Amino acid sequence: MIAEVIVDVAHSDVDKIFDYACKEGICAGARVVVPFGKNTTTGFVMRVKGESDVPAEKLKSIYRADDGPPALTAESLFLAEKLAARYRCPMALVLRLFLPAEMRTGKVSEAYITYANLAGDPAEIPSRAKTQRALADFLSENGETEIPLLRSRFGAAVSALEKRGLLVFEKKRRFRDPYEGERGEKTERVLTPAQSEAVRRVRETEKTVALLHGVTGSGKTEIYLTLIAEQQKLGKTALFLVPEISLTPQMLFQLRSRFGSSVAILHSGLSAGERFDEWQRLREGEAKIAVGARSAVFAPVENVGLIVIDEEHDGSYSSESPPRYNTFDVALLRARYNGCKLVLGSATPAVETYRRAEAGEFELITLPDRINARPLPNVRIVDMRREVRRGNPSPFSALLRERLSACLAEGNQAILFLNRRGYAQTALCRDCGYVAKCERCDVALTYHSGENCLKCHYCGARYRMPAVCPACGGTRLRYVGTGTERVVGELSELYPAARVLRMDADTTSGKEGHYKILKKFSDREADILVGTQMVAKGHDFPSVTLVGILDADMSLHFPDYRSGERTFQLITQVAGRSGRGSEAGEVVLQTYDPENYILRFACAYDYAGFYRREIGMREATCFPPFAKVVRVMVSGETDAAALECLKEVYEKLRDIYTAHAEMFLFFNKMHAPVKRIQGKYRYQVLMRLLDGAPLKAIYAVCAEIKYKNALVWVEENPSNLS
Ligand code: ADP
Ligand code: ZN
Repeated sequence: MIAEVIVDVAHSDVDKIFDYACKEGICAGARVVVPFGKNTTTGFVMRVKGESDVPAEKLKSIYRADDGPPALTAESLFLAEKLAARYRCPMALVLRLFLPAEMRTGKVSEAYITYANLAGDPAEIPSRAKTQRALADFLSENGETEIPLLRSRFGAAVSALEKRGLLVFEKKRRFRDPYEGERGEKTERVLTPAQSEAVRRVRETEKTVALLHGVTGSGKTEIYLTLIAEQQKLGKTALFLVPEISLTPQMLFQLRSRFGSSVAILHSGLSAGERFDEWQRLREGEAKIAVGARSAVFAPVENVGLIVIDEEHDGSYSSESPPRYNTFDVALLRARYNGCKLVLGSATPAVETYRRAEAGEFELITLPDRINARPLPNVRIVDMRREVRRGNPSPFSALLRERLSACLAEGNQAILFLNRRGYAQTALCRDCGYVAKCERCDVALTYHSGENCLKCHYCGARYRMPAVCPACGGTRLRYVGTGTERVVGELSELYPAARVLRMDADTTSGKEGHYKILKKFSDREADILVGTQMVAKGHDFPSVTLVGILDADMSLHFPDYRSGERTFQLITQVAGRSGRGSEAGEVVLQTYDPENYILRFACAYDYAGFYRREIGMREATCFPPFAKVVRVMVSGETDAAALECLKEVYEKLRDIYTAHAEMFLFFNKMHAPVKRIQGKYRYQVLMRLLDGAPLKAIYAVCAEIKYKNALVWVEENPSNLS
């Protein structure tokens, strides 16, 4: 037999099939160890065939293959081939998406645990050996039990019983449980008529994709869970994708309480061992529901009955490292492969998604009301220009202070949202206007008061806070642009009795960083939660009755065609955290641009109005979904290297452009908006393409260009254009 093998070396020079002789029994998807050049390497069997074109004397043999089912399923191989072709990416790199990194590096392996059970007649135990009797009783009641547990309860009696020959042992695979002991209350709810109708429509539609457009708090989760349960009864598996699982532990506990160990969680916050075990449980069919962020779309489950993408508008669903896949595209491939439904859910669907639903490509299901007809919180806009004129320099308007006092007085909780961490956006010299910049990135540094240092938010570098201006020697530094640290500081002065938590990238490091803060807040150990966009995500805190949006404009003026859409989404999502319990909620939104139509639509919860205006503008200016934004990035070790590479990229792309000029709405090369990140010089060729443009040729050009000290890659409709 001959195996066609892809070696696990992510280099385009070896990105081809190698034939190896193999024994019977090796099948496609198996992970193998093979001789390669002078070394050995691991690889994956893509296909098995009878004969090879390689002369027999040159044909090498596979050394060995993993035991058990092949690491890659037939579906994984199918997807991998599609993705490698679509993104012009070495197959080895694509295959890595389908396996836990721990498995490739071989750094973890299965964990085992020994169980004991009763063998023989417990009547042999003398009556004075009370603990031994208790142990025997325990085992006859509970059956086989892990040794560590028995030892902790019955101590030396375990060995004593063993000596009497009354115990049998069995070693079993132990799956490390990332959330051992954490269970939400069992909540199987009676669906509301709107929820049942949504479930029915997903079930009955002929279309593969359904978009669940439901306002915040409309009970989308319960719909997903019902649909998953249906599939589980049919013996099928499910994929449940969420933007960032560490931000929604409640969702996880709900899943665990409903589906128990059938749920496996895949996310980066797990330890290597846990991740490996969760993956194994899915691969072996022991777990049937895979939950996780975008990478979980590659979960090794077979016979998929449902795929859910919650908060489908979230930017985290497009990958920012190669292969730069889009989660929706992969999910759709899987849905078609399995003949199952793909459900997208959001209170604020991406404009591109909504258009496809509106056009009839997706089943559009709308849930316009919150559960139990709870009202959406009332949003009030505060004109911050007027606050400044009135001489209020603080980050809180008079209205926000008044509402915050009232909220705290009533014993409720509040969330304050500000999309900037640190103390101040930057420190500026009042005398000469000097702004400290990162040495490796073309960005201003952010002042962090807790550590009294300046930090670069692009590369993480830290710098000492200078006592005097390095440019003019002046001593008058001014802090511009409020960050979360400063807000917390000011709150403690305004409300000394209030307990304040801060949640941003600086306070959430470590495995359970987010969880600890969210749990504290939900256990009412704090009154105010201050944070960046992390506080906007799906949380369900019933006691929150006030949400303050401190600076609604921050994301509005990004030079990006999605900035309006993103602002609308962010405001709707944060506002949606208020008033989810029995008491009505409210929102105070502070802005320097109170007439802005995006803010107006967001305050009125008018998605349709927002959408009509936005789609009209996209059409008029030819932006997605009416065209595709394609950016070819060039990043070089030196400016010269980047420029040289850019020149070649540009010339080759220009040939495509000249041959198909009618499909290009825009084509030009330029500096990337951030010229340098982590010491790398960045340029881009920016394009806007009509449907049918030769995207494949663009990928091909970029895959062929090889420079020692420069990298080239392609981004489609990138969610980050910096
Ligand atoms: P969404 O995801 O649409 O924002 P959730 O799924 O978080 O909304 O649901 C909002 C709230 O309504 C949650 O507290 C949830 O427990 C509750 N809920 C959902 N469905 C029902 C139901 N059928 N009956 C009672 N409460 C429900
Ligand atoms: Zn930097």
